[in-house]
Amino acid sequence: MQLLMMGPPGAGKGTQAARLVKKYNIPQISTGDMFRAAVREGTALGLKAKAYMDSGSLVPDEVTIGIVRERLAKDDCKGGFILDGFPRTVEQADSLSKILSELGKNITCVLNISVPADYLVERAVGRRICRKCGATYHVKFHAPKVESVCDECGGELYQRADDNAETMTKRLAAYEESTRPLIDYYKRAGVYVEIDGRQSIDKVTEDLEDVLREKQ
Ligand code: ADP
Ligand code: AMP
Repeated sequence: MQLLMMGPPGAGKGTQAARLVKKYNIPQISTGDMFRAAVREGTALGLKAKAYMDSGSLVPDEVTIGIVRERLAKDDCKGGFILDGFPRTVEQADSLSKILSELGKNITCVLNISVPADYLVERAVGRRICRKCGATYHVKFHAPKVESVCDECGGELYQRADDNAETMTKRLAAYEESTRPLIDYYKRAGVYVEIDGRQSIDKVTEDLEDVLREKQ
């Protein structure tokens, strides 16, 4: 299965993608995670991406498309993958179609986790991530058993630099301008499915699995 996980920042894409990885045994490819790793490691890519991420704007298409093209060519993507947070612009979506047709693959399904804007700042500001294993928590909606400690691996939880109200306003504006148009784009392609992301984390997972049961 070649799945795209779409939705505004803080909708629950990463949380749900991590669960689907375990169930379907295909890799999660998050461009946000790839950029954050590059920033941490201080690579040339990280240096390019950092200012855009800190200000809440999108990293330029040519940079983003390049890293996805390389990643999708890796062996572990042969049996399918979950793209999380890519594409985010029409240009990225057009490039993805080209990359997939070069690889002889198609898009199985676009899973759009739909959440209204008034939920999203609280979700993002309360997000905490494990430094060691990358598991995602929320201080209110999915709290770890011990504050600031990962349930899965005991790692320390941190807050992303861009998970503040000010940057979220810009990220939401970038979503409205550049990414929301992809809903119609993928509706026209006949691969679009919408999931109500206002529901609990477990209920969203159930709905996703119901959709995917028919696609396998
Ligand atoms: P995205 O990858 O779309 O930016 P995340 O999966 O990281 O979003 O989720 C953002 C925050 O909201 C996290 O702290 C996560 O624990 C929490 N969250 C995810 N899904 C839900 C949900 N259905 N209800 C409440 N909180 C959620
Ligand atoms: P995310 O982890 O998906 O919330 O992404 C964090 C930040 O990384 C975004 O605000 C962008 O600056 C950058 N980013 C992630 N994915 C993309 C993408 N597909 N296109 C452009 N920028 C991206």
